[in-house]
Amino acid sequence: MSMNLVTLLYLVASVCFIQALKGLSHPTTSIRGNIFGMTGMAIAVLTTIALVHGQARALNVDFTTGIAWVLAAVVVGGGLGAFMANKVEMTKMPELVAFMHSMIGLAAVFIGVAAVAEPWAFGITAAPVAAVVGARTPDGAVLFEGFVRHAIPYGNRLELFLGAAIGAITFSGSVIAFGKLSGKYKFRLFQGAPVQFSGQHMLNLVLGLATIGLGLVFVATESWPAFFAMLALAFVMGVLIIIPIGGADMPVVVSMLNSYSGWAAAGIGFSLNNAMLIVAGSLVGSSGAILSYIMCKAMNRSFFNVILGGFGGEATTATDGAKEQRPVKSGSADDAAYMLSNAETVIIVPGYGLAVARAQHAVNELAEKLTHKGVNVKYAIHPVAGRMPGHMNVLLAEAEVPYDQVFEMEDINGEFAQADVAIILGANDVVNPAALTKGTPIYGMPILEAYKAKTVIVNKRSMAAGYAGLDNELFYMDKTMMVFGDAKKVVEDMGKAIE
Ligand code: NDP
Repeated sequence: MSMNLVTLLYLVASVCFIQALKGLSHPTTSIRGNIFGMTGMAIAVLTTIALVHGQARALNVDFTTGIAWVLAAVVVGGGLGAFMANKVEMTKMPELVAFMHSMIGLAAVFIGVAAVAEPWAFGITAAPVAAVVGARTPDGAVLFEGFVRHAIPYGNRLELFLGAAIGAITFSGSVIAFGKLSGKYKFRLFQGAPVQFSGQHMLNLVLGLATIGLGLVFVATESWPAFFAMLALAFVMGVLIIIPIGGADMPVVVSMLNSYSGWAAAGIGFSLNNAMLIVAGSLVGSSGAILSYIMCKAMNRSFFNVILGGFGGEATTATDGAKEQRPVKSGSADDAAYMLSNAETVIIVPGYGLAVARAQHAVNELAEKLTHKGVNVKYAIHPVAGRMPGHMNVLLAEAEVPYDQVFEMEDINGEFAQADVAIILGANDVVNPAALTKGTPIYGMPILEAYKAKTVIVNKRSMAAGYAGLDNELFYMDKTMMVFGDAKKVVEDMGKAIE
Protein backbone atom coordinates (compact mmCIF):
# COMPACT_ATOMS: atom_id res chain seq x y z
CA MET A 1 0.00 0.00 0.00
CA SER A 2 1.44 3.40 -0.98
CA MET A 3 2.16 5.97 1.73
CA ASN A 4 -0.26 8.39 0.04
CA LEU A 5 -3.10 5.89 0.32
CA VAL A 6 -2.19 5.18 3.96
CA THR A 7 -2.26 8.92 4.73
CA LEU A 8 -5.60 9.30 2.95
CA LEU A 9 -7.15 6.37 4.86
CA TYR A 10 -5.79 7.69 8.17
CA LEU A 11 -7.34 11.05 7.31
CA VAL A 12 -10.71 9.38 6.62
CA ALA A 13 -10.46 7.52 9.96
CA SER A 14 -9.59 10.79 11.76
CA VAL A 15 -12.65 12.51 10.26
CA CYS A 16 -14.76 9.51 11.40
CA PHE A 17 -13.42 9.92 14.96
CA ILE A 18 -14.23 13.65 14.97
CA GLN A 19 -17.74 12.86 13.69
CA ALA A 20 -18.03 10.20 16.40
CA LEU A 21 -17.24 12.74 19.14
CA LYS A 22 -19.70 15.19 17.62
CA GLY A 23 -22.42 12.53 17.38
CA LEU A 24 -21.86 11.30 20.93
CA SER A 25 -22.53 14.78 22.31
CA HIS A 26 -26.32 14.30 22.04
CA PRO A 27 -28.58 11.26 22.59
CA THR A 28 -30.38 11.80 19.27
CA THR A 29 -27.14 11.49 17.29
CA SER A 30 -25.26 9.08 19.56
CA ILE A 31 -25.98 5.92 17.53
CA ARG A 32 -24.67 7.65 14.41
CA GLY A 33 -21.64 8.79 16.44
CA ASN A 34 -20.97 5.22 17.53
CA ILE A 35 -21.17 3.94 13.96
CA PHE A 36 -18.68 6.61 12.87
CA GLY A 37 -16.35 5.58 15.72
CA MET A 38 -16.48 1.89 14.81
CA THR A 39 -15.98 2.62 11.10
CA GLY A 40 -12.99 4.88 11.87
CA MET A 41 -11.43 2.24 14.10
CA ALA A 42 -11.92 -0.52 11.51
CA ILE A 43 -10.27 1.65 8.82
CA ALA A 44 -7.40 2.57 11.18
CA VAL A 45 -6.69 -1.05 12.21
CA LEU A 46 -6.88 -2.50 8.68
CA THR A 47 -4.75 0.29 7.23
CA THR A 48 -2.11 -0.19 9.93
CA ILE A 49 -1.98 -3.95 9.29
CA ALA A 50 -1.60 -3.33 5.53
CA LEU A 51 1.08 -0.69 6.21
CA VAL A 52 3.15 -2.95 8.46
CA HIS A 53 2.71 -5.86 6.04
CA GLY A 54 4.07 -3.67 3.21
CA GLN A 55 7.01 -2.48 5.31
CA ALA A 56 7.86 -6.08 6.28
CA ARG A 57 7.76 -7.17 2.63
CA ALA A 58 10.08 -4.33 1.64
CA LEU A 59 12.56 -5.55 4.27
CA ASN A 60 12.11 -9.13 3.12
CA VAL A 61 10.79 -10.14 6.54
CA ASP A 62 8.08 -12.80 6.79
CA PHE A 63 5.19 -11.10 8.60
CA THR A 64 2.57 -13.85 8.14
CA THR A 65 2.82 -15.09 11.72
CA GLY A 66 2.78 -11.48 12.95
CA ILE A 67 -0.45 -10.77 11.07
CA ALA A 68 -1.99 -14.00 12.37
CA TRP A 69 -1.20 -12.88 15.93
CA VAL A 70 -2.65 -9.42 15.34
CA LEU A 71 -5.83 -10.81 13.77
CA ALA A 72 -6.20 -13.34 16.59
CA ALA A 73 -5.84 -10.49 19.11
CA VAL A 74 -8.45 -8.44 17.22
CA VAL A 75 -10.89 -11.38 17.24
CA VAL A 76 -10.31 -12.27 20.91
CA GLY A 77 -10.23 -8.62 22.11
CA GLY A 78 -13.15 -7.55 19.91
CA GLY A 79 -15.18 -10.62 20.96
CA LEU A 80 -14.51 -9.96 24.64
CA GLY A 81 -15.37 -6.28 24.20
CA ALA A 82 -18.65 -7.08 22.43
CA PHE A 83 -19.54 -9.66 25.08
CA MET A 84 -18.80 -7.31 27.98
CA ALA A 85 -20.57 -4.33 26.41
CA ASN A 86 -23.62 -6.49 25.73
CA LYS A 87 -23.71 -7.93 29.22
CA VAL A 88 -22.83 -4.89 31.31
CA GLU A 89 -25.62 -3.17 33.18
CA MET A 90 -25.95 0.55 32.61
CA THR A 91 -25.12 1.21 36.27
CA LYS A 92 -21.85 -0.75 35.95
CA MET A 93 -20.72 1.28 32.95
CA PRO A 94 -18.27 3.55 34.83
CA GLU A 95 -16.40 0.51 36.16
CA LEU A 96 -16.17 -0.89 32.65
CA VAL A 97 -14.86 2.45 31.41
CA ALA A 98 -12.27 2.54 34.23
CA PHE A 99 -11.25 -1.02 33.30
CA MET A 100 -10.86 0.00 29.63
CA HIS A 101 -8.71 2.98 30.64
CA SER A 102 -6.48 0.68 32.69
CA MET A 103 -6.01 -1.55 29.62
CA ILE A 104 -5.03 1.44 27.45
CA GLY A 105 -2.51 2.48 30.11
CA LEU A 106 -1.06 -1.02 30.31
CA ALA A 107 -0.84 -1.26 26.51
CA ALA A 108 1.14 2.02 26.47
CA VAL A 109 3.52 0.60 29.10
CA PHE A 110 4.03 -2.66 27.18
CA ILE A 111 4.67 -0.84 23.91
CA GLY A 112 7.10 1.50 25.69
CA VAL A 113 9.05 -1.41 27.21
CA ALA A 114 9.11 -3.32 23.93
CA ALA A 115 10.24 -0.25 21.98
CA VAL A 116 13.05 0.41 24.49
CA ALA A 117 14.18 -3.22 24.16
CA GLU A 118 13.83 -3.56 20.37
CA PRO A 119 13.67 -0.06 18.85
CA TRP A 120 14.29 -1.24 15.29
CA ALA A 121 11.18 -3.44 15.39
CA PHE A 122 9.13 -0.28 15.98
CA GLY A 123 10.61 1.60 13.07
CA ILE A 124 12.73 3.76 15.39
CA THR A 125 15.83 4.52 13.39
CA ALA A 126 18.58 3.96 15.88
CA ALA A 127 22.30 4.51 15.39
CA PRO A 128 24.61 1.53 16.04
CA VAL A 129 26.66 2.07 19.20
CA ALA A 130 28.29 -1.31 19.83
CA ALA A 131 28.74 -4.58 18.01
CA VAL A 132 29.24 -8.00 19.51
CA VAL A 133 30.63 -10.48 17.05
CA GLY A 134 29.15 -13.95 17.23
CA ALA A 135 31.28 -16.97 18.02
CA ARG A 136 31.52 -20.40 16.41
CA THR A 137 33.29 -23.63 17.29
CA PRO A 138 36.20 -24.74 15.01
CA ASP A 139 33.78 -27.08 13.21
CA GLY A 140 31.46 -24.17 12.40
CA ALA A 141 28.65 -24.68 14.93
CA VAL A 142 27.16 -21.41 16.26
CA LEU A 143 28.12 -20.75 19.89
CA PHE A 144 26.25 -17.46 20.07
CA GLU A 145 24.91 -15.00 17.52
CA GLY A 146 26.51 -11.63 17.04
CA PHE A 147 24.38 -8.50 17.41
CA VAL A 148 24.58 -4.77 17.01
CA ARG A 149 23.44 -2.56 19.86
CA HIS A 150 21.64 0.59 18.69
CA ALA A 151 21.10 3.87 20.50
CA ILE A 152 17.59 5.30 20.49
CA PRO A 153 17.55 8.96 19.37
CA TYR A 154 16.98 11.48 22.21
CA GLY A 155 13.60 12.63 20.87
CA ASN A 156 12.26 9.05 20.83
CA ARG A 157 13.58 8.43 24.34
CA LEU A 158 11.65 11.45 25.61
CA GLU A 159 8.46 10.25 23.88
CA LEU A 160 8.92 6.74 25.25
CA PHE A 161 9.48 8.08 28.77
CA LEU A 162 6.36 10.29 28.62
CA GLY A 163 4.11 7.67 26.95
CA ALA A 164 5.14 4.86 29.31
CA ALA A 165 4.99 7.06 32.46
CA ILE A 166 1.51 8.42 31.65
CA GLY A 167 0.45 4.86 30.72
CA ALA A 168 1.66 3.49 34.08
CA ILE A 169 -0.12 6.27 36.04
CA THR A 170 -3.28 5.65 34.00
CA PHE A 171 -3.12 1.90 34.62
CA SER A 172 -2.74 1.88 38.39
CA GLY A 173 -4.98 4.94 38.86
CA SER A 174 -7.73 3.28 36.80
CA VAL A 175 -7.46 0.06 38.80
CA ILE A 176 -8.08 2.06 42.01
CA ALA A 177 -10.93 4.00 40.31
CA PHE A 178 -12.42 0.66 39.18
CA GLY A 179 -12.42 -0.58 42.78
CA LYS A 180 -13.88 2.65 44.15
CA LEU A 181 -16.62 2.77 41.52
CA SER A 182 -17.66 -0.85 41.93
CA GLY A 183 -17.93 -0.42 45.71
CA LYS A 184 -18.01 -4.18 46.29
CA TYR A 185 -14.45 -4.85 47.43
CA LYS A 186 -13.46 -4.77 51.10
CA PHE A 187 -9.88 -3.64 50.31
CA ARG A 188 -9.37 -0.22 51.98
CA LEU A 189 -7.93 1.47 48.86
CA PHE A 190 -11.05 0.43 46.91
CA GLN A 191 -13.44 2.13 49.35
CA GLY A 192 -15.36 5.24 48.22
CA ALA A 193 -14.11 7.27 51.22
CA PRO A 194 -10.81 9.07 50.60
CA VAL A 195 -7.59 7.61 51.99
CA GLN A 196 -5.53 10.43 53.43
CA PHE A 197 -2.44 10.52 55.65
CA SER A 198 -0.13 13.25 56.84
CA GLY A 199 2.63 14.20 54.45
CA GLN A 200 0.67 12.77 51.50
CA HIS A 201 1.07 15.82 49.27
CA MET A 202 4.78 16.04 50.07
CA LEU A 203 5.21 12.32 49.27
CA ASN A 204 3.39 12.82 45.95
CA LEU A 205 5.62 15.78 45.13
CA VAL A 206 8.81 13.87 45.93
CA LEU A 207 7.66 10.82 43.94
CA GLY A 208 6.62 13.04 41.03
CA LEU A 209 10.02 14.75 40.95
CA ALA A 210 11.82 11.40 41.28
CA THR A 211 9.79 9.99 38.37
CA ILE A 212 10.69 12.96 36.18
CA GLY A 213 14.34 12.76 37.33
CA LEU A 214 14.65 9.06 36.45
CA GLY A 215 12.88 9.70 33.13
CA LEU A 216 15.45 12.38 32.31
CA VAL A 217 18.30 10.02 33.28
CA PHE A 218 16.83 7.53 30.78
CA VAL A 219 16.59 10.26 28.12
CA ALA A 220 20.22 11.27 28.73
CA THR A 221 21.82 7.83 29.07
CA GLU A 222 19.28 5.28 27.75
CA SER A 223 19.74 3.47 31.05
CA TRP A 224 17.33 0.55 31.35
CA PRO A 225 17.40 0.48 35.17
CA ALA A 226 16.42 4.19 35.18
CA PHE A 227 13.56 3.44 32.77
CA PHE A 228 12.19 0.57 34.85
CA ALA A 229 12.64 2.45 38.15
CA MET A 230 10.78 5.40 36.57
CA LEU A 231 7.97 3.00 35.54
CA ALA A 232 7.74 1.51 39.06
CA LEU A 233 7.42 5.00 40.58
CA ALA A 234 4.79 5.97 37.99
CA PHE A 235 2.70 2.91 38.98
CA VAL A 236 2.89 3.98 42.65
CA MET A 237 2.02 7.59 41.67
CA GLY A 238 -1.16 6.41 39.91
CA VAL A 239 -2.35 4.76 43.13
CA LEU A 240 -1.39 7.75 45.29
CA ILE A 241 -3.13 10.26 43.02
CA ILE A 242 -6.50 8.47 43.12
CA ILE A 243 -6.76 7.16 46.71
CA PRO A 244 -7.32 10.58 48.37
CA ILE A 245 -10.21 11.37 46.02
CA GLY A 246 -13.58 10.84 47.68
CA GLY A 247 -16.83 9.42 46.33
CA ALA A 248 -18.48 12.56 45.03
CA ASP A 249 -15.44 13.55 42.98
CA MET A 250 -15.36 10.29 41.02
CA PRO A 251 -16.97 11.84 37.88
CA VAL A 252 -13.92 14.08 37.53
CA VAL A 253 -11.60 11.11 38.11
CA VAL A 254 -13.27 9.05 35.38
CA SER A 255 -12.97 11.84 32.82
CA MET A 256 -9.43 12.69 33.99
CA LEU A 257 -8.26 9.09 33.49
CA ASN A 258 -10.00 9.10 30.13
CA SER A 259 -7.87 12.10 29.20
CA TYR A 260 -4.65 10.48 30.52
CA SER A 261 -5.29 7.33 28.50
CA GLY A 262 -5.55 9.48 25.36
CA TRP A 263 -2.30 11.30 26.06
CA ALA A 264 -0.54 7.99 26.78
CA ALA A 265 -1.68 6.70 23.38
CA ALA A 266 -0.60 9.94 21.67
CA GLY A 267 2.86 9.76 23.33
CA ILE A 268 3.31 6.20 22.09
CA GLY A 269 2.06 7.32 18.65
CA PHE A 270 5.01 9.73 18.49
CA SER A 271 7.45 6.94 19.42
CA LEU A 272 6.00 4.63 16.80
CA ASN A 273 5.84 7.43 14.27
CA ASN A 274 2.18 6.60 13.70
CA ALA A 275 0.06 9.63 12.80
CA MET A 276 -3.21 7.76 13.39
CA LEU A 277 -2.34 6.95 17.01
CA ILE A 278 -1.26 10.56 17.59
CA VAL A 279 -4.55 11.91 16.20
CA ALA A 280 -6.79 9.38 17.99
CA GLY A 281 -4.86 9.78 21.27
CA SER A 282 -5.02 13.57 21.07
CA LEU A 283 -8.77 13.49 20.39
CA VAL A 284 -9.36 11.27 23.44
CA GLY A 285 -6.90 13.29 25.54
CA SER A 286 -8.38 16.67 24.72
CA SER A 287 -12.04 15.61 24.84
CA GLY A 288 -11.35 13.96 28.24
CA ALA A 289 -9.71 17.18 29.44
CA ILE A 290 -12.73 19.23 28.31
CA LEU A 291 -15.06 16.76 30.04
CA SER A 292 -13.00 17.03 33.25
CA TYR A 293 -13.37 20.81 33.04
CA ILE A 294 -17.15 20.50 32.53
CA MET A 295 -17.42 18.08 35.47
CA CYS A 296 -15.34 20.37 37.71
CA LYS A 297 -17.58 23.28 36.73
CA ALA A 298 -20.70 21.19 37.41
CA MET A 299 -19.40 20.51 40.90
CA ASN A 300 -18.02 24.01 41.41
CA ARG A 301 -14.55 22.60 42.09
CA SER A 302 -11.16 23.45 40.72
CA PHE A 303 -9.17 20.68 39.10
CA PHE A 304 -6.38 21.00 41.70
CA ASN A 305 -8.95 20.92 44.46
CA VAL A 306 -10.08 17.53 43.18
CA ILE A 307 -6.55 16.18 42.77
CA LEU A 308 -5.57 17.39 46.23
CA GLY A 309 -8.54 15.40 47.32
CA GLY A 310 -10.98 14.59 50.03
CA PHE A 311 -14.39 15.66 48.68
CA GLY A 312 -17.01 13.53 50.41
CA GLY A 313 -14.32 12.79 52.98
CA GLU A 314 -16.55 12.88 56.01
CA ALA A 315 -18.58 10.18 54.33
CA THR A 316 -18.69 7.58 57.05
CA THR A 317 -19.32 9.99 59.91
CA ALA A 318 -22.14 11.67 58.04
CA THR A 319 -23.75 8.35 57.20
CA ASP A 320 -23.56 7.31 60.81
CA GLY A 321 -25.46 10.49 61.62
CA ALA A 322 -28.19 9.32 59.27
CA LYS A 323 -28.79 6.31 61.46
CA GLU A 324 -30.11 8.51 64.27
CA GLN A 325 -33.69 7.65 63.22
CA ARG A 326 -35.08 11.17 62.89
CA PRO A 327 -38.79 11.21 62.06
CA VAL A 328 -39.84 11.56 58.41
CA LYS A 329 -43.24 11.82 56.76
CA SER A 330 -43.92 8.83 54.56
CA GLY A 331 -46.77 7.88 52.26
CA SER A 332 -47.84 5.28 49.72
CA ALA A 333 -47.63 5.25 45.94
CA ASP A 334 -51.39 5.99 45.91
CA ASP A 335 -50.87 9.12 48.03
CA ALA A 336 -48.14 10.25 45.66
CA ALA A 337 -50.33 9.54 42.61
CA TYR A 338 -53.10 11.68 44.10
CA MET A 339 -50.71 14.60 44.66
CA LEU A 340 -49.26 14.27 41.18
CA SER A 341 -52.57 14.17 39.35
CA ASN A 342 -53.79 17.26 41.22
CA ALA A 343 -50.69 19.28 40.35
CA GLU A 344 -50.37 21.79 37.54
CA THR A 345 -46.61 21.47 37.19
CA VAL A 346 -44.50 18.45 38.14
CA ILE A 347 -40.71 18.29 37.90
CA ILE A 348 -39.20 14.79 37.87
CA VAL A 349 -35.64 14.47 39.21
CA PRO A 350 -34.08 11.17 38.12
CA GLY A 351 -30.98 9.81 39.89
CA TYR A 352 -28.77 6.76 40.19
CA GLY A 353 -31.52 4.70 41.91
CA LEU A 354 -33.77 5.08 38.87
CA ALA A 355 -31.03 3.51 36.74
CA VAL A 356 -30.54 0.69 39.27
CA ALA A 357 -34.27 -0.06 39.26
CA ARG A 358 -34.46 0.22 35.43
CA ALA A 359 -37.54 2.32 35.95
CA GLN A 360 -37.06 4.66 32.98
CA HIS A 361 -39.87 3.16 30.88
CA ALA A 362 -42.26 3.16 33.83
CA VAL A 363 -41.41 6.84 34.45
CA ASN A 364 -42.09 7.75 30.84
CA GLU A 365 -45.47 5.98 31.02
CA LEU A 366 -46.29 7.79 34.28
CA ALA A 367 -45.35 11.14 32.69
CA GLU A 368 -47.51 10.37 29.64
CA LYS A 369 -50.50 9.66 31.87
CA LEU A 370 -49.96 12.90 33.78
CA THR A 371 -49.55 14.90 30.58
CA HIS A 372 -52.76 13.32 29.32
CA LYS A 373 -54.49 14.69 32.42
CA GLY A 374 -53.21 18.18 31.61
CA VAL A 375 -50.25 18.21 34.04
CA ASN A 376 -47.16 20.04 32.79
CA VAL A 377 -44.30 17.51 33.26
CA LYS A 378 -40.59 18.35 33.04
CA TYR A 379 -37.44 16.39 33.84
CA ALA A 380 -34.49 18.03 35.63
CA ILE A 381 -31.04 16.65 34.85
CA HIS A 382 -28.03 17.22 37.08
CA PRO A 383 -24.70 16.90 35.21
CA VAL A 384 -23.30 14.33 37.69
CA ALA A 385 -26.52 12.42 38.42
CA GLY A 386 -26.05 8.66 38.10
CA ARG A 387 -22.61 7.17 37.68
CA MET A 388 -21.30 8.52 34.40
CA PRO A 389 -21.44 11.75 32.44
CA GLY A 390 -24.76 11.98 30.60
CA HIS A 391 -26.12 8.90 32.44
CA MET A 392 -29.60 10.34 32.96
CA ASN A 393 -29.84 11.67 29.39
CA VAL A 394 -29.00 8.22 28.05
CA LEU A 395 -31.49 6.58 30.38
CA LEU A 396 -34.34 8.89 29.42
CA ALA A 397 -33.46 8.66 25.73
CA GLU A 398 -33.67 4.86 26.03
CA ALA A 399 -37.26 5.23 27.26
CA GLU A 400 -37.98 7.70 24.43
CA VAL A 401 -38.81 10.56 26.75
CA PRO A 402 -39.51 13.61 24.52
CA TYR A 403 -36.39 15.82 24.45
CA ASP A 404 -38.44 18.99 24.91
CA GLN A 405 -39.39 17.76 28.40
CA VAL A 406 -35.77 17.31 29.47
CA PHE A 407 -33.96 20.30 31.02
CA GLU A 408 -30.40 20.82 32.22
CA MET A 409 -29.80 22.09 35.76
CA GLU A 410 -29.15 25.74 34.92
CA ASP A 411 -32.30 25.91 32.77
CA ILE A 412 -34.69 24.33 35.27
CA ASN A 413 -33.47 25.52 38.67
CA GLY A 414 -35.42 28.77 38.36
CA GLU A 415 -38.66 26.79 37.91
CA PHE A 416 -38.68 24.69 41.09
CA ALA A 417 -40.17 27.50 43.19
CA GLN A 418 -43.26 27.58 40.94
CA ALA A 419 -43.60 23.78 40.67
CA ASP A 420 -46.42 22.15 42.62
CA VAL A 421 -44.56 18.87 43.01
CA ALA A 422 -40.90 17.90 42.63
CA ILE A 423 -40.68 14.10 42.51
CA ILE A 424 -37.23 12.71 43.21
CA LEU A 425 -36.70 9.19 41.92
CA GLY A 426 -33.56 7.49 43.23
CA ALA A 427 -31.59 10.74 43.46
CA ASN A 428 -29.87 11.91 46.60
CA ASP A 429 -26.58 13.87 46.40
CA VAL A 430 -27.74 15.97 43.45
CA VAL A 431 -30.64 17.41 45.51
CA ASN A 432 -28.85 17.55 48.86
CA PRO A 433 -29.16 21.06 50.40
CA ALA A 434 -26.03 20.26 52.47
CA ALA A 435 -24.21 21.67 49.43
CA LEU A 436 -25.46 25.11 50.54
CA THR A 437 -24.03 24.85 54.06
CA LYS A 438 -20.47 25.95 54.68
CA GLY A 439 -18.26 23.26 56.16
CA THR A 440 -20.12 20.27 54.68
CA PRO A 441 -18.00 18.06 52.42
CA ILE A 442 -20.07 18.93 49.34
CA TYR A 443 -20.30 22.66 50.10
CA GLY A 444 -20.33 24.64 46.86
CA MET A 445 -21.54 21.87 44.56
CA PRO A 446 -24.51 23.21 42.56
CA ILE A 447 -27.66 21.14 43.21
CA LEU A 448 -31.09 20.81 41.67
CA GLU A 449 -33.16 23.12 43.87
CA ALA A 450 -35.98 20.63 44.44
CA TYR A 451 -36.28 21.82 48.05
CA LYS A 452 -37.90 25.02 46.69
CA ALA A 453 -40.93 23.19 45.19
CA LYS A 454 -44.29 23.51 46.99
CA THR A 455 -44.35 19.78 47.70
CA VAL A 456 -41.54 17.23 47.43
CA ILE A 457 -41.99 13.49 46.91
CA VAL A 458 -38.89 11.34 47.39
CA ASN A 459 -38.73 7.73 46.31
CA LYS A 460 -35.91 5.52 47.56
CA ARG A 461 -35.71 2.21 49.37
CA SER A 462 -34.50 3.37 52.77
CA MET A 463 -32.97 6.34 54.58
CA ALA A 464 -29.51 5.28 53.38
CA ALA A 465 -27.11 8.02 52.25
CA GLY A 466 -26.19 8.78 48.63
CA TYR A 467 -22.83 8.24 46.94
CA ALA A 468 -21.08 11.00 48.93
CA GLY A 469 -22.21 9.31 52.15
CA LEU A 470 -24.11 12.33 53.49
CA ASP A 471 -27.45 12.61 55.23
CA ASN A 472 -30.00 14.69 53.30
CA GLU A 473 -32.02 17.40 55.10
CA LEU A 474 -34.50 17.45 52.22
CA PHE A 475 -35.95 14.15 53.43
CA TYR A 476 -36.86 15.66 56.82
CA MET A 477 -38.60 18.81 55.56
CA ASP A 478 -42.28 19.34 56.44
CA LYS A 479 -43.27 19.54 52.78
CA THR A 480 -41.49 16.28 51.90
CA MET A 481 -43.22 12.90 51.64
CA MET A 482 -41.03 9.79 51.41
CA VAL A 483 -42.35 6.87 49.36
CA PHE A 484 -40.18 3.89 50.21
CA GLY A 485 -39.60 1.03 47.77
CA ASP A 486 -37.89 0.04 44.56
CA ALA A 487 -38.31 2.86 42.02
CA LYS A 488 -39.77 0.63 39.30
CA LYS A 489 -42.43 -0.90 41.55
CA VAL A 490 -43.33 2.47 43.13
CA VAL A 491 -43.57 4.29 39.78
CA GLU A 492 -45.65 1.48 38.26
CA ASP A 493 -47.98 1.58 41.27
CA MET A 494 -48.32 5.36 40.88
CA GLY A 495 -49.15 4.88 37.21
CA LYS A 496 -51.85 2.31 38.05
CA ALA A 497 -53.32 4.59 40.74
CA ILE A 498 -53.49 7.50 38.31
CA GLU A 499 -55.37 5.34 35.81
P1 NDP B 1 -26.81 8.98 44.74
O1 NDP B 1 -25.86 7.88 44.53
O2 NDP B 1 -26.40 10.14 45.55
O3 NDP B 1 -28.14 8.40 45.40
C1 NDP B 1 -28.88 7.40 44.78
C2 NDP B 1 -30.01 7.00 45.70
O4 NDP B 1 -30.79 6.05 45.00
C3 NDP B 1 -29.53 6.33 46.96
O5 NDP B 1 -29.68 7.20 48.07
C4 NDP B 1 -30.37 5.06 47.08
O6 NDP B 1 -31.05 5.06 48.33
C5 NDP B 1 -31.37 5.20 45.94
N1 NDP B 1 -31.63 3.91 45.27
C6 NDP B 1 -30.76 2.93 44.97
N2 NDP B 1 -31.37 1.91 44.37
C7 NDP B 1 -32.68 2.24 44.28
C8 NDP B 1 -33.82 1.58 43.78
N3 NDP B 1 -33.75 0.36 43.21
N4 NDP B 1 -35.01 2.22 43.84
C9 NDP B 1 -35.11 3.45 44.42
N5 NDP B 1 -34.06 4.11 44.93
C10 NDP B 1 -32.84 3.51 44.86
O7 NDP B 1 -27.30 9.41 43.28
P2 NDP B 1 -27.37 10.82 42.55
O8 NDP B 1 -27.75 10.49 41.16
O9 NDP B 1 -28.21 11.78 43.34
O10 NDP B 1 -25.90 11.40 42.60
C11 NDP B 1 -24.84 10.81 41.89
C12 NDP B 1 -23.61 10.68 42.77
O11 NDP B 1 -22.67 9.83 42.12
C13 NDP B 1 -22.91 12.01 42.99
O12 NDP B 1 -22.34 12.04 44.27
C14 NDP B 1 -21.81 11.98 41.92
O13 NDP B 1 -20.73 12.81 42.25
C15 NDP B 1 -21.43 10.51 41.96
N6 NDP B 1 -20.80 10.01 40.73
C16 NDP B 1 -21.25 10.44 39.51
C17 NDP B 1 -20.62 10.03 38.37
C18 NDP B 1 -21.05 10.63 37.07
O14 NDP B 1 -20.23 10.71 36.15
N7 NDP B 1 -22.30 11.02 36.93
C19 NDP B 1 -19.48 9.06 38.39
C20 NDP B 1 -19.16 8.60 39.73
C21 NDP B 1 -19.80 9.08 40.84
P3 NDP B 1 -31.60 3.67 48.94
O15 NDP B 1 -30.44 2.77 49.06
O16 NDP B 1 -32.20 4.08 50.26
O17 NDP B 1 -32.63 3.15 48.00
